[in-house]
Amino acid sequence: MSAKLIKCPDCGRTNRVPAAAPGTPRCGNCHQPLPWIADAGDATFQQIAGQSPVPVLADLRAEWCGPCRMVSPALEQVATDLAGRIKLVKVDVDQAPKLQQRLSVQAIPALMILRNGQVVARRAGAAPASDLRAWVEQTIDREHGA
Ligand SMILES: [Zn+2]
Repeated sequence: MSAKLIKCPDCGRTNRVPAAAPGTPRCGNCHQPLPWIADAGDATFQQIAGQSPVPVLADLRAEWCGPCRMVSPALEQVATDLAGRIKLVKVDVDQAPKLQQRLSVQAIPALMILRNGQVVARRAGAAPASDLRAWVEQTIDREHGA
């Protein structure tokens, strides 16, 4: 299972964050929640996104896609703002043809929120971090029945 090096937004310590875990990652130094960002493909999506302990914000993208590159930092900002509450899972659709078909991705970037592996919200195209954060928060709050 792959891991990413994530810098703690609170203390600056670099942590090794696994792509899949039973609980949300915390900084080994200051114990604050860390942004959880992982890459997934056809073979790993079920484990990384389907079994996530928190809602997943999935970013279906491709290297050649300009709007995808534009929205990527905004999504990472949302993952940082909502550390401990969501997991950002990036999927390169060129490397994941089965997922692209199963999730009915017609255009990229395709953004989806999944809970327990089920898509509960989706949108297409780039947007500012503030818009994306509001969308994610509204969706996961609604899912909590709040
Ligand atoms: Zn820290």
